[in-house]
Amino acid sequence: MHTPKIVILGAGYGGLITSRQLEKTLKNGEAEVTLINKHDYHYISTQLHKTGAGTASDDKITLHIPDLLKTNKIQFKKATVQDVDFNEKRVLLDSGDKIDYDYLLISLGFDVATFGIPGIEENAFKIRSFRSTKSIFNHILRQMAAYKEDSDPSRLTFAVAGAGFTGIEMIGELVEALPKLCRKYDIPVSETRIINIEASPTVLPGFDQEAIDFTTNYLKESGVELMTSAKILECSPTSIELESGEVLPSRTLIWSGGVRGNTLLEKLDLPMTRGRIEVDEYLRVKGVENVFCIGDAALFMKDDKNPLPPTAQVAIQQAELCGPNIIATLRNEKLKSFVYHHKGTVASIGNKAAVGKVFGMKISGSFAALMKQVIEARYLFVLGGPGLVMKQFLKISKPSSEVSVFSNQK
Ligand code: FAD
Ligand code: NAD
Repeated sequence: MHTPKIVILGAGYGGLITSRQLEKTLKNGEAEVTLINKHDYHYISTQLHKTGAGTASDDKITLHIPDLLKTNKIQFKKATVQDVDFNEKRVLLDSGDKIDYDYLLISLGFDVATFGIPGIEENAFKIRSFRSTKSIFNHILRQMAAYKEDSDPSRLTFAVAGAGFTGIEMIGELVEALPKLCRKYDIPVSETRIINIEASPTVLPGFDQEAIDFTTNYLKESGVELMTSAKILECSPTSIELESGEVLPSRTLIWSGGVRGNTLLEKLDLPMTRGRIEVDEYLRVKGVENVFCIGDAALFMKDDKNPLPPTAQVAIQQAELCGPNIIATLRNEKLKSFVYHHKGTVASIGNKAAVGKVFGMKISGSFAALMKQVIEARYLFVLGGPGLVMKQFLKISKPSSEVSVFSNQK
């Protein structure tokens, strides 16, 4: 008898939590499940800014995927997905391998949106994955080493594009990390500049005014140069050009100007809007049989006009329903509609402060920072239960591993 094959593409929050749901619910032998991911580790994407600034050790941000799978019901395959043939029901991998499926989940996550701005792809740094973010930290160290040789101030000018949640979280980490690195490498802190460049008139555009005010004041008091109503038009290896005509000499632009669905999705010839795959109320890709899509790769309309935002909170809730809906399809049972419950949003500004709104309550400062840690602990709990929370919590907080600072200047 043919055993149905379920294939999950991507082991971010969406793919991993769906895998856990399938592990829990599938009967032995009911289906073969394969989880495919580029790396054998899951990175905690909600904390990538810490990797960028070197404020968290690598083992706090990356988790070995096979350790997160509790049973042998899920086969893990480390591979990069290249394409999907929906007629043949087959996934094509970079190795040349082909994996057949009966039920497919696309949870390949996000890519950074650069809007075709000249020089961003080539010269700016992206908060996209563990590796891309790690390269930010290594670059900062190289700039510090090079500054000791040539005293070029552009090496100590660190710019972050965008003051959305990602940009603010990145800036917050830099505020805490750079003085420590300066002391370590004997560089005057006063020579460093941290600049946040945002096209909208305020930081955190669209968020509560109190949060905007708190963040603006906190960052200004921390010495951050906030440039609002300032649009980046171009970036070279050594400068950033603004719409106003101003050119900032800087060798570090960290781009957090927005996200879109994984660029691979464009290849798949599926119904898409704004780089994301359109899904129906059951999280199925419209017009394709037995294919589901969740998380940042999916476009789920919360009403006639607005899609749900690309957040971990959405990806996790979708995954919690997607597992059961895949099983319901397999068993010929009724599927459930996805209903999103927004619990709140909290953005960290370094380790000591945060701003946000939780269950309708506006919070800021150290209490919000504590809430942010609770939320992160909850994400870990959903991924790996209390054992994982304890394991990660008990890991000694050591600085991020460093490359030799005397190599490879930009
Ligand atoms: P992803 O987490 O992007 O996972 C996709 C997976 O697919 C990855 O493991 C990747 O390696 C793999 N993959 C990609 N391409 C391939 C391929 N071709 N072949 C094989 N595997 C592939 N959201 C919140 O709700 N709260 C927060 O506090 C928060 N903080 C954030 C902080 C930062 C700095 C950033 C960048 C984002 C933050 N977000 C937050 C958003 C959140 O991280 C994303 O919404 C979430 O990661 C989406 O989960 P996902 O499973 O859809 O995709
Ligand atoms: P975003 O789209 O929310 O913000 C991007 C910012 O960049 C915008 O404010 C935009 O005006 C600015 N920008 C774009 N082009 C620019 C240019 N040329 N010059 C200057 N500024 C420019 O993107 P994001 O902050 O990466 O967030 C992506 C998603 O991830 C959102 O859904 C967000 O809620 C989520 N997220 C959540 C958290 C959290 O909950 N703590 C943290 C990070 C990200």
